[in-house]
Amino acid sequence: MEIPSKPNVARGQPPTDTLVEPLLSIRNLSVAYRSSKGKGGYYKALRNISLDIRPGESVGLLGESGAGKSTVASAIMSLVEPPDKIMGEIIYNGKDVLKLTDKQLRHYRWNEAAMIFQAAMNSLDPVVTVGKSFEELLLDKQLARGRNHARELAKKLLHEMELPETICDMFPLELSGGMKQRVIIAMALATSPKILLLDEPTTALDAVTQFAVLSTLKKLKQSGKLQNLILITHDPSVHAFMVDRLIVMLKGVIVEDGPIEEVMTRPKHPYSQLLLGTLPLSPKRGSISEKLVDDSCPFTRYCPYVMQKCRDRMPKMYSVGEGQEAACYLYGGA
Ligand code: SF4
Repeated sequence: MEIPSKPNVARGQPPTDTLVEPLLSIRNLSVAYRSSKGKGGYYKALRNISLDIRPGESVGLLGESGAGKSTVASAIMSLVEPPDKIMGEIIYNGKDVLKLTDKQLRHYRWNEAAMIFQAAMNSLDPVVTVGKSFEELLLDKQLARGRNHARELAKKLLHEMELPETICDMFPLELSGGMKQRVIIAMALATSPKILLLDEPTTALDAVTQFAVLSTLKKLKQSGKLQNLILITHDPSVHAFMVDRLIVMLKGVIVEDGPIEEVMTRPKHPYSQLLLGTLPLSPKRGSISEKLVDDSCPFTRYCPYVMQKCRDRMPKMYSVGEGQEAACYLYGGA
């Protein structure tokens, strides 16, 4: 059995860019959702994760359904509410997002962080023109001085998303899926949020339209109009096209984090290797969604390298390369 070689990186030497003050820090974040089946039971969606988002980064979250990717985004937007449970801290501008007052939260959402949910393009009001929807948003957010000003701003935002201003007079039903998604993104960018979270933004689109929408987003990022991007998708090729840094998640934990080129071409965690098709051995039989012992490595039942300690305790993140870390005992742990 060939075990992946250990990288030649000195322990305890953080990559230089970690010295940059983070824009957003997640610390020991756990989320548990109330189970719809059991009586009062909870399902752990995130298990004690920590990560920093640095200024200007485009970060991708990769993992299968149930990995916790969307829950990370919901937590950043402070959308986890009772009876669901959330613990830990999300520090932005020196304040814990999870402890903001309603007024502070209203400002934070949209002005600091905006999120585009899965299938958001279906949320456009079918009986209201695109221009009218923009007007309502821009006036509500006090970004426009009046209807005419709102219309001008709407045209500018649509132009940035490479849409013709004529669609202001169109209804959502008259737009293609790609156009609707561009409208939704233009609306999310109206307040110039510092962080834009995109949850499977192009999954419902055909490949050509998907590429066109992603290319527009990429141009906005390169021009600085889009500052920080957190992209959630199970599609590695979308991450490869869009982000600088990739975080791989499995069953509510982060198992690998590093520069996109490194993780895509030289994934270190066996689960990342499985996802990206480089695992040198067939994984053991079993379902990845099987219930896990709370404190074990989430890949224990599937991993060809499993050891007893993997079952006993979740490994911490070990440095596996320049700016790259993996939560796996193959790279450390007594
Ligand atoms: Fe496999 Fe153990 Fe590493 Fe988990 S910690 S991925 S079970 S070797």
